[in-house]
Amino acid sequence: MPVRILSLTFQELEKWLVNEMGEKAFRAKQIFTWLHFRRVRSFSRMTDVSLALRSRLEETAEITVPRRESAAEAPDGTVKYLLSLPGGPAESVLIPDPPRLTACLSTQYGCRMGCRFCMTGSAGFHGNMTADEIVSQLYTMAEGSRNRISNVVLMGMGEPMDNWESVAAALDIMSHDRGICIGQRKITVSTVGIPGGIAKLIDLKKQYGLAVSLHSAVESVRRSLIPVASALTLPELKEDMLRYTEATGRRVTLEYCLIRGVNDSLSHASALAAYASGLPCKINLLIYNPVPGLEWERPPETAVKEFTEFLYPRCQAVTLRRSRGGKVAGACGQLGASVLEDPARKPGFPVS
Ligand code: SF4
Repeated sequence: MPVRILSLTFQELEKWLVNEMGEKAFRAKQIFTWLHFRRVRSFSRMTDVSLALRSRLEETAEITVPRRESAAEAPDGTVKYLLSLPGGPAESVLIPDPPRLTACLSTQYGCRMGCRFCMTGSAGFHGNMTADEIVSQLYTMAEGSRNRISNVVLMGMGEPMDNWESVAAALDIMSHDRGICIGQRKITVSTVGIPGGIAKLIDLKKQYGLAVSLHSAVESVRRSLIPVASALTLPELKEDMLRYTEATGRRVTLEYCLIRGVNDSLSHASALAAYASGLPCKINLLIYNPVPGLEWERPPETAVKEFTEFLYPRCQAVTLRRSRGGKVAGACGQLGASVLEDPARKPGFPVS
């Protein structure tokens, strides 16, 4: 099997070139720059690399190039990409929010967390992505964009902490100063909170952002929405988040998607304010995007207003994010249709 060279971090590339290819270490600087900064798709274009090495690279390695199946643009400028990757179809979203341009990447084919409100969760789990499959989504979107991508969020299909090895390599590659060089603080890893997940992010000793999909500060309600939440209680999750804030000096983002009649009442707002107390955090409120086939609904505007107004004076930072890309099913919780539509991929095993 050829080496999937886009999956190698700078250190891994250097080691591979020295130990397996018998090359000098400096070759890693040249090749990493060609792959991740200039983003060439062929070894033949690496003109400062000797012809002999280029030819050996052709024989032993390959550069993953996603096939772009479609790119649907919503009126708000959000673009949802459907890509064919070696492991299957993947959806990624490019979100303009000047001066930022954010790429939302997938990390798994489907997801096994089985969140009840999420289309990806309904689509089941079909495998982990490798690091090259994660970073090549970013490169394909960068190629199709006139403006530089400034931010990356790992909030597409999949639970990043459930595919940690590949995600950690992709984080390293995306933030490397010889590559596309997205600043660590401009990259956010999202999680529903699985045991040991946040600890792995802390162990990297980097400045990557952390967003936690909370969706309810009432234990029973959260468990009914996110089955895997039964493996980590709300107090335990808060402990993990506090450790992250202490280790990085950064605030956590609490993602809270308002769903009609489920978590949008004032008593839920009160539980959220109490939970956020003492935790350096910002609260990101989202309004649920209906997913075909799922029973959940958007909350009425009056409930959104009351919920938001309750939180504003009680919490450090609250934003109500009007979701982007709803018209192209590229909004939060709406990815995964391609996985469901692929007849070879039946819904898998949601965690229960
Ligand atoms: Fe997976 Fe995230 Fe969807 Fe939950 S919300 S099923 S973790 S993709």
